[in-house]
Amino acid sequence: MVATRLLIVGGGIHGTFFAGALTQEAGFAADDLIVLDPWHRPAQAWRRRCHTVGMTHLRSTSSHNMGTDFRSLRRWAAERGYDSAVHFREPYARPSLEVFHAHLDYLIETTGIDVRYRAGTVRKLRRKDQSWLADTETETIAAESVILATGPGKPKLPAWAHRPQIRHVYDDDIEDGEADDRTVAVIGGGISAWQYACRRSVRNAVTVLSPHGIRRSMFDSDPGYMGPKKLRGFLQKAVPDREAELISARRPGSIPPDLEAKVRASVARKSLRFMVCDIRSMASDTSGITLTTTASATIGPFDEVVCATGFCGQHAAGSLIASTAVDAGFPCSVSGFPLLKPDLSWGERLYVSGGAAALMLGPTAGNIIGAHKAFAILRNTLS
Ligand SMILES: Cc1cc2nc3c(=O)[nH]c(=O)nc-3n(C[C@H](O)[C@H](O)[C@H](O)COP(=O)(O)OP(=O)(O)OC[C@H]3O[C@@H](n4cnc5c(N)ncnc54)[C@H](O)[C@@H]3O)c2cc1C
Repeated sequence: MVATRLLIVGGGIHGTFFAGALTQEAGFAADDLIVLDPWHRPAQAWRRRCHTVGMTHLRSTSSHNMGTDFRSLRRWAAERGYDSAVHFREPYARPSLEVFHAHLDYLIETTGIDVRYRAGTVRKLRRKDQSWLADTETETIAAESVILATGPGKPKLPAWAHRPQIRHVYDDDIEDGEADDRTVAVIGGGISAWQYACRRSVRNAVTVLSPHGIRRSMFDSDPGYMGPKKLRGFLQKAVPDREAELISARRPGSIPPDLEAKVRASVARKSLRFMVCDIRSMASDTSGITLTTTASATIGPFDEVVCATGFCGQHAAGSLIASTAVDAGFPCSVSGFPLLKPDLSWGERLYVSGGAAALMLGPTAGNIIGAHKAFAILRNTLS
């Protein structure tokens, strides 16, 4: 059996941030930790999603980067001569994906954390004596401490879309090089839907079908929760009120102003079609996939229907968090969020980060800033 001081389950943005930050700033040697993730490369799930939707710049500011210092990315890029007019988009100096990834790869290389990644999915977590045992498909890893950084969960599909003909933009096996000259329906009205639609519309006839009109918002949640201003009041509330506030503070289905301008221009020159409607059902035959709206209108046929309808959440049924809650008897809120202590522990030496830690970290828990906030807490507990 493999043994380690710390096991990080999930090597995405959060898991990779913790691995780097703990080795750089909390006295961990690279050998002290193992990161388990089904993908072969640090933050690969994130890289793949960004690539699929054709994202060029992050939505968040350059301060929210993969180094522990908020100025790390700007300083690193300036030292290497990156043109800030190209790589840092105003407002908020939002970094290009190119510079964000180059900086991330530099941090991975200098900390040597990539050799600590092992391919695998944790199926079950169990406590034995003073250790946590993590069972993967092929092995069991014994760890003194565990951080669960398992990401936003499975892609979420509308009820009518659970059919093999319908894809989700974040399916693991979504094709990379799609064919040209196809008719494509993109379902959803958020940033992923519009970015993906813009990318596919270069070579295909794309229709965006959204339940609402275009909603503009610079960020995906109220930025007041990034700091103590709103977070303090949030944390003083009872759990059910915090759950309600998590919903009201998020801005789902919104896009930042620069993407809005691009989308409106594409719709105006008819390189993208846009309809506000709710889909009720689908049918498919040799001519393609036809969609029926709740107002009984028929749309299509389409060669492809791709949903960009978000994620189930990392604490949803079937997730490692949900099964651990049952197996270990750990407490959860009514909607399934782990009830964590202020040090982010859920059980003895078991910690949770990402969107699942939102009752302690607020609505930005699943974002890059959420990893910074979690690390500020975990570094003291773990070192
Ligand atoms: C296209 C896109 C753009 C975004 N842009 C921004 C942005 O600009 N700024 C911002 O702050 N946020 C952004 N976000 C939100 C957020 O930062 C990302 O979703 C980020 O990837 C979350 O990091 P994470 O580590 O929680 O999840 P992920 O990066 O998804 O990593 C989780 C990892 O855990 C693995 N895993 C899951 N279960 C297990 C298991 N049982 N065993 C082992 N491994 C497991 C997964 O395979 C995955 O590799 C964006 C999200 C998307 C989808």
